Amino acid sequence: MEIKYQLKSASQRRSTPYQPTENIGFGRIRTDHMFVMDYADGQWQNPRVTSFGPLPISPGAMALHYGQSIFEGAKAFLHPNDEIYTFRLDKNIERLNTSASILCMPHVPAEMQKQAIEALIDVERLWFPRQEGACFYIRPFMFATEDNLSVRSANAYTYCVVISPSGAYYPDGNNSAIRLLVSKKYHRAVSGGTGAAKASGNYAASLRAATAAKEFGAAQVLYLDANNQQIEEAGAMNHFHVRKDGTLIIPTFTDTILKSITSQSVLALGEHLGCEIKQETIMIDDFIADVRSGEIVEAGGFGTAAVVSAVGEYIFEDNTIIQVADGQVGPVTKKLYQLYSDIQNGRCDDPYNWLTQIPRLYK
Ligand SMILES: *Cc1c(COP(=O)(O)O)cnc(C)c1O
Repeated sequence: MEIKYQLKSASQRRSTPYQPTENIGFGRIRTDHMFVMDYADGQWQNPRVTSFGPLPISPGAMALHYGQSIFEGAKAFLHPNDEIYTFRLDKNIERLNTSASILCMPHVPAEMQKQAIEALIDVERLWFPRQEGACFYIRPFMFATEDNLSVRSANAYTYCVVISPSGAYYPDGNNSAIRLLVSKKYHRAVSGGTGAAKASGNYAASLRAATAAKEFGAAQVLYLDANNQQIEEAGAMNHFHVRKDGTLIIPTFTDTILKSITSQSVLALGEHLGCEIKQETIMIDDFIADVRSGEIVEAGGFGTAAVVSAVGEYIFEDNTIIQVADGQVGPVTKKLYQLYSDIQNGRCDDPYNWLTQIPRLYK
């Protein structure tokens, strides 16, 4: 793929390293450029790194009406050698195409996605925030642009990548545990639906439940399956818990759970953490009983944004609350976060070659 570079002039773009003095938050800051490419006549065309700014879109663009829109979320890190490394980007690339299949959208060949993201990061190097715990949050997305009001899959799309220089997700260093609302009223996905896709529509459909969560003083919803029997996930993160014997358990992936890359990575890290990590079907009633009896000692969520979020308590729609152990962030959660961020930031070995250096291509 031959990428066109339509860069801003030197005086209009960043020329010195980005050194924010305050925590810049997550996903708020943009950079000078974005990557864009169009799909028409059965082909991806006109790949370009161009000024960050509005995209032209027809009022009849099918994404706006029928919701063919998917995205990814990945991270890159600046290592002590001053080079930038993506973390498991190949998994995000693969998953974008899984989502595309679920929503009847065209695939973006893996090599094209990789080249697009690497080219954009390469020209935006100076935007990497020089701040403790910072990263580049990478947001690739694809949506239907064809101007047509028939209900069918579109034949024109845009694939776009933007980068958000981001600060530590939890500025206090991941020290507080959140509350989840366990909902029997709202559901995120049903078998045969789109739950396994990272689709915009899944998020639109979760906002009502998120509003309910707020009313219960909860940060997010823990979704159950449509029969209210099994634990699924928290909507922006997968769920996990730790038993008294140290075993860490993640619900078995089904077509109603988004297959988190963080979960998959944690599954691989068991031997480095010195504990057993496995997947099981978790019945909510057993879970509640085990939290109450102290058999379950830690719980939380996995996702790229926060890596791991500890859950200190669960609230139910009848206002019952159950607390996990002392309600604080537990030792396994802390250790996991430490190991994960040490690998990402190049502070320890990368045992599975999850990091890939961004080549210096643009002169
Ligand atoms: C993105 C996402 C996650 C987390 O997945 P990661 O690959 O670990 O970032 C979990 N659940 C849903 C519904 C998601 O969209």
